[in-house]
Amino acid sequence: MTTSQISNTELSDTRQEIDKLDKQLLEILAQRRELTERVIQSKATANTPIRDEAREQSLIRQRIADGRLLGLDPQLIVKLFHEIIADSVRLQQDILQSKLNGAPERKRSVKVAFQGIDGSYSHLMGRSILSSAGAPAAAPTTHSAGPDFVGFPSFKETVDAVESGSCELGILPIENTTSGGINEVYDLLLNSRVSIVGEEKFNVRHCLIGREDVRVSQLTIIHCSQLAVAECGHFLASIPNCAVQYATDSATALKELKESGDKHRAAIASEEAAEMFGLKVLKRDIANHEDNFTRYVVVSKSPVKVDPRVTSKVSLAMSTLHKPGALVDTLIAFKQHGINLTKLESKPIPDNLWEEMFYIDFIGNLEAPNVKAALDEVTKLTRFIKVLGCFPSCDVAPTEVTNQESSPCETDTCQPSSVRIEVKDTPAPKSGGKDKGYKLVSRDYKPDNTIIDVGGVRIGDGNFLVIAGPCSVESREQIMACAREARNNGAKILRGGVFKPRTSPYSFQGLGYEGLDLLIEAGRAHGMPVITEVMTTEDVERVAEKADILQIGARNMQNYSLLKAIGETRRPVMLKRGLSAPIEELLQATEYILAGGNQQVFLCERGIRTFETATRGTLDISAVPVLKARTHLPIFIDPSHAAGTRELVAPLALAAKAVGADGIIVEFHPEPEKALSDGPQALRFPQFAKLMADLKKIEVS
Ligand code: PEP
Ligand code: MN
Repeated sequence: MTTSQISNTELSDTRQEIDKLDKQLLEILAQRRELTERVIQSKATANTPIRDEAREQSLIRQRIADGRLLGLDPQLIVKLFHEIIADSVRLQQDILQSKLNGAPERKRSVKVAFQGIDGSYSHLMGRSILSSAGAPAAAPTTHSAGPDFVGFPSFKETVDAVESGSCELGILPIENTTSGGINEVYDLLLNSRVSIVGEEKFNVRHCLIGREDVRVSQLTIIHCSQLAVAECGHFLASIPNCAVQYATDSATALKELKESGDKHRAAIASEEAAEMFGLKVLKRDIANHEDNFTRYVVVSKSPVKVDPRVTSKVSLAMSTLHKPGALVDTLIAFKQHGINLTKLESKPIPDNLWEEMFYIDFIGNLEAPNVKAALDEVTKLTRFIKVLGCFPSCDVAPTEVTNQESSPCETDTCQPSSVRIEVKDTPAPKSGGKDKGYKLVSRDYKPDNTIIDVGGVRIGDGNFLVIAGPCSVESREQIMACAREARNNGAKILRGGVFKPRTSPYSFQGLGYEGLDLLIEAGRAHGMPVITEVMTTEDVERVAEKADILQIGARNMQNYSLLKAIGETRRPVMLKRGLSAPIEELLQATEYILAGGNQQVFLCERGIRTFETATRGTLDISAVPVLKARTHLPIFIDPSHAAGTRELVAPLALAAKAVGADGIIVEFHPEPEKALSDGPQALRFPQFAKLMADLKKIEVS
């Protein structure tokens, strides 16, 4: 045998071993589910709540410790057990629900109505909601025979089938993160007698599907549903001379494509549907946004009761009285009864010009006294009110695990001997007001600190936050390694420049949009939002589509057209202080962004130009208390660009925390000698890990 034959045999042997282990993993997961069922049987009799936060936290902590001994990444353990716990919670909810809503009907298979034909998204989603192991959370009863899906040409006929009793359940898409609420479905829910009994969210991954391999530019017709056109508009616009042919649903689009016999046609549908029709995927993930989620509801002729231990939602439609502040009064009634709204949407009422119907979802159970009292009060303030349903919520909140707990270092070596520092409130210098050239940014205008929430990461909430990453994104390997290192050491946000403001035009200018995709891929893979610099107004919209936070660099602090453009985006912004900008000019520059509408801004001191040449910049550490007194916005320090050499970065970073900054943005690199930009100031990975451990030793209050 040749060497390559030997290594091929070895590879296939190893793969077989892996297959065997995976099978065992699945068997173990199934066994674990059986135990969960046993747990809920005892909880049901003892009337204990489904979730026990303390037990979940100690379980994850224990698994992290056990995993460490086996050399497993704590982050992986946390992710894995979040999923396992979520599955267990859902299973327990399903069981409680079916206990509450009647005995299982074993003989007959339940009929489920959906819009479209087999293979359409509604069909696939319905299959996944209703035939998952365990009982469907939504269904009033469990059915061993598996559901029988019946397709209808329209949403109306789908709802009619449930209303008339010819189908027990119906599956309806209700809203999508890209294309918004589906008005027709809202109208049907409003005007029929069906109730929402369940919900589920799905990541809809649209694919371009053809009869055979063909270049996208050669396509002449694309068959797709109206929703697919709305969700894949950017992709469709990028194909010149190609017409769209509407189909009622994605599977019908595939059917029409197949029947056309034309290889220059394609359709938009799911990969699974392509397989069902024996067609070929030409391109995956063509939706405008990667996170393209659709929420589906399950409807039934009669409402279900939800066990009080199951987190549930109530959905209602209402129109308020014709008087000023009527909507506010209803919202106050919800607030007074401690009710948390998860949705408030207004929609015009068809054939009823100038009237609006409000659709509200909130966390609660119709049987709960606070919900009853709130609805009682709200009813007085409305002209019309209808409860569309009360059903188990599809969102399972993950168990809270602190960064410290999931950080990779062993507890005894990392146990900080802390230094406690009290940062006294600095008396606010008289500032603010239009005469100073800024108003919205000033503390006089808004005394409370601004807290910026980026996908659950909170900037400025009193916890010191670290943004870390390389100066520039250079390659997939490099940014992946950095993301892993950042996350494992407790950094919350990943940085990486893709458009680089370089002093010399001959220096590396960044990987541009290709780099942005790599940065986002790395951030997603390690569960971190990303920040990147945008340098021109033309790039703002495109970068803002993907990056979680936009950075305006020091050299652009007074680029007013850029500040205005950034003010119109909805993404949080980090504005860096200009090399020679006094604090007042930084605040005036910030005012441009807030005046444009965007209130989610934080500032960054990154070293200024002085006569001193020993460091790259002079870190103006006093800018932190001065800014804190003058503005409500969070203040960060960038020790890397101020220092210019890696040895100085850690002491400056520690000083930043001690002086009361909200966080730092710091650069590191897997191999600083090979860095394409700012290598001398990049921390080595072990230096970064040490800095993160040292930062934990400082406690600021
Ligand atoms: C950066 O953070 O990548 C950067 C270029 O910083 P500054 O704008 O502060 O020079
Ligand atoms: Mn840099």
